[in-house]
Amino acid sequence: MSKKRRKIAVMQGDAEFMTKPYAVIRRVETKQSEGFPYEAVHNSKTFLKCQFHCHVQGDPLDNIQHTAKELLTHAKKVGFDVVSITCHRKIHFSKTLEQYAQKLDILLIPGIEFEINGKHILCINAHKNIEKVDSYEKLEIYKKAHQDSLIIAAHPFFPGKIALQKDLPKNIDLFDAIENSFCYTKKIDFNKKAQKLAQQHNKPFLALADCHILPYLDIGYIKVKAQKNASAIIKAIKNHQYQNFTEPKSLWQITKILFQMYMLGFRGKRGRK
Ligand SMILES: [Zn+2]
Ligand SMILES: [Zn+2]
Repeated sequence: MSKKRRKIAVMQGDAEFMTKPYAVIRRVETKQSEGFPYEAVHNSKTFLKCQFHCHVQGDPLDNIQHTAKELLTHAKKVGFDVVSITCHRKIHFSKTLEQYAQKLDILLIPGIEFEINGKHILCINAHKNIEKVDSYEKLEIYKKAHQDSLIIAAHPFFPGKIALQKDLPKNIDLFDAIENSFCYTKKIDFNKKAQKLAQQHNKPFLALADCHILPYLDIGYIKVKAQKNASAIIKAIKNHQYQNFTEPKSLWQITKILFQMYMLGFRGKRGRK
């Protein structure tokens, strides 16, 4: 590959250029794994491979290259049974899309990455009125009305204003689970604090991808022991019937991913001008 072509490939998140180091994810590194034997889960048909944090074209905040259908097609290729698309601020879901997923034998569950004071929170099996939730008071009302939703604190202790930080321990009862972000190395790990909090409050600590670039869809995911319907899956997760699949990345891998995401964002901003 020429130097120029390689540079373009990096900028575009080109699948051909990118190696696929995540095709085989080993056993969870975190102690919060729920204790199912790795081999049993890895080969089991009773565990559903789920991705609950991914963005697609049309996301109001992020510039994403792949469409929802492209994401679902790729999800099928890498063996997902269940997907929730979590665009910022709006639920990206339609009957057509649901049927498209169905044909691929994938259960598509409505999801969103909404915000309170600009801080990111995921809602899986989301109802339309979640789009109006912008305070903890409103979240409390939403939660009481929709106990079949799963509220996850997204990347809560990462640097920056979009992370919940102190808001999470203060409002811990409003959260059903905490994200175990893909973005960590053996030495640099902002998940540690989140993991400790999850353990203290007996909350599931879920490995997710926060996928902005398609080949990274299974960079972190969970397998859930449940029947293949949304309420059974949410219930199983709340009862810790899941196993994380994630592993620390090298600093080079993280740098590459973040650079690719940055370039996408940069092109998006330029495109919107
Ligand atoms: Zn986020
Ligand atoms: Zn996200």
